[in-house]
Amino acid sequence: MQSIYDFSLKQLQEKLKPSFRAKQVYNWIYKKYATSYDEMKNIPNDLKNDLNENYKIDILKIAKKEKSSDGSIKYLFQLHDGHTIETVLLLMKKKKINDEGIIERSEKYTVCISSQVGCKVGCTFCLTAKGGFVRNLTIGEIVAQIVQLKKDNNIAENKALNIVYMGMGEPLDNYDNVVQAVKIFKEEEGLSINGKRQTLSTSGISSKITKLGNEDLGINLAISLHAVDDTLRSELIPMNKAYNIQSIIDSVKDFPVDARKKVMFEYLVIKDKNDDIASANQLVKMLNGINAKVNMIYFNPYPGTTYERPTRQSMLKFQDHLINKGVLCTIRESKGLDISAACGQLKEKETNKD
Ligand code: SF4
Repeated sequence: MQSIYDFSLKQLQEKLKPSFRAKQVYNWIYKKYATSYDEMKNIPNDLKNDLNENYKIDILKIAKKEKSSDGSIKYLFQLHDGHTIETVLLLMKKKKINDEGIIERSEKYTVCISSQVGCKVGCTFCLTAKGGFVRNLTIGEIVAQIVQLKKDNNIAENKALNIVYMGMGEPLDNYDNVVQAVKIFKEEEGLSINGKRQTLSTSGISSKITKLGNEDLGINLAISLHAVDDTLRSELIPMNKAYNIQSIIDSVKDFPVDARKKVMFEYLVIKDKNDDIASANQLVKMLNGINAKVNMIYFNPYPGTTYERPTRQSMLKFQDHLINKGVLCTIRESKGLDISAACGQLKEKETNKD
């Protein structure tokens, strides 16, 4: 049976008659987070029966959740076939209340969602890669991650969230389902998360970056670059042998980016591997002509890795160098560090707990 979260509003309108019922159902599942058709008071019984027989409300089962001291929450969701995926709610800004008790600023959240069970890309620094590829997530499984997080945290229906496709899996390797999920997230009658609030992060399948650009979804792009020469990048991301750095840079140059937005280049910094000034210089040269921002990420060691976390001093030196050369550069402080927030680590811990 298909999940109700698989469908765009238009598709649901074609299935449900009269079609205004589709908007009502959309309202119940995306704004009131209903998990059964019985809750839908304005839906007639015969339609409820029809819905029950044909479309499940497949909200994801919470197998485990861990809260970090910084307020971020990492979820392990169990899918209907027993496989598990990770989704992380990152608290980017806390609520600010002034002395008179008035809310000056509400919380700001970003949700990091998964697109596959496992991953084919095989990045050597990634625990997800070690488990191999199992399967693509369905559209409904991608969408339900956001619904379940909003429901579980009582996040108001009109509260804007940012989404990053940066959890388990390579989103462009599950292209059709991810593109459809982006469109469903954007539905104004549903979650209403516009393209500017969605960032697709890819390890760099350049042909699909070009295809994605032609979809005109208005979303942001992040590239897991991590290295400035193909030898090191192929060591870190074996798929680089098929899609090398130059092909990625070329596809990014053609990608339509909102004038106020930048393409994010994620740079996972590994001690003595890619944290030197020569690498910084090459990076500046490579990004020439792209409205780019570099986001440096500390490598987060896990048991069994030979890679090491860089020093804060080397991170700052690298960042200063980029900024002095006119490239916007931030250092991502590792949110959720105390809950094993690097990709795949919660799942790994769960699997190995016996
Ligand atoms: S880092 Fe991302 S793309 Fe690379 S193997 Fe892990 S999940 Fe896949």
